[in-house]
Amino acid sequence: MHNNAFAKLGLNFAYLAFEITNDTLPAAVQSIRTLDMRGSNISMPNKQKILPLLDKLDPVAKMVGAVNTVVNDNGVLTGYTTDGTGFMKALADENLDIRGEKMTIAGAGGAGTAIEIQAAYDGVKEMSIFNIHDQTWENAERNVKIINEQTDCKAQLFDLADQDAFKREIADSAIYCDSTGVGMKPLEGKSLVNDPSFFHKDMIVFDTVYAPRTTKLMEVAQEAGVEHVFNGLGMMLEQGAEAFKLWTGKEMPVDYIRDLLFDQDDQK
Ligand code: NAD
Repeated sequence: MHNNAFAKLGLNFAYLAFEITNDTLPAAVQSIRTLDMRGSNISMPNKQKILPLLDKLDPVAKMVGAVNTVVNDNGVLTGYTTDGTGFMKALADENLDIRGEKMTIAGAGGAGTAIEIQAAYDGVKEMSIFNIHDQTWENAERNVKIINEQTDCKAQLFDLADQDAFKREIADSAIYCDSTGVGMKPLEGKSLVNDPSFFHKDMIVFDTVYAPRTTKLMEVAQEAGVEHVFNGLGMMLEQGAEAFKLWTGKEMPVDYIRDLLFDQDDQK
């Protein structure tokens, strides 16, 4: 994505991938300074481990507690998280604005946390978070606490097993987002919502999954006649575009990249 965008805009940058473990992370981060790289992306399992190795943190990255993008300004490394801004930008690209609205979201892992904190920070008014009792439950509790303490959004956590609450909270939401990965392999063909009557026509249904392009959740939403149904491709492109802009100061040619890399594949 990045190399094609650099070439398209004639920018003298190159994007390279390195396999970094928790053990080699400190030396790898120092090499960003040593080699005067403009920055980097960070993937799991280093998104949290990198925090103490950076000089500065963007306020939302601090609230999320994870970084996926680093920018090097003359040896000063600042950490950002662009998954949440990518999500909000993907909606903005469709002329949709959820600020001031209620959101219901399933999941509070890496993607869910970034979306929840960014949406609250940007002005979503009310948020109902549903999670299962797995290792991310504590994270969901932390997200609710941070949102209620540090933003104007009112957040609540529910057990996903409480299906009455799930239906009720979705019913008066402007957007339902699934950030659980249910719907992609190995859970392809599955959905947390299987009853179209959970949805109303004028809402947004957003699945962070982008392979397959149409998930079971999206089919259920379409069956319900929901007007705005999205997979995670727009979010994935826009989180990259946000990082691209942080490094280069330029807008990524997102439509060009979508056509070039993602619209002709067999994932639809
Ligand atoms: P994660 O492991 O950090 O979090 C997974 C979340 O899903 C947790 O809250 C967990 O409780 C929940 N979950 C897992 N299995 C479940 C089940 N069977 N039923 C109900 N809840 C369940 O994962 P992540 O990194 O947050 O990724 C989640 C999804 O988001 C993946 O599908 C990933 O591809 C997608 N994602 C998309 C983008 C994008 O740009 N579109 C970016 C990041 C992640």
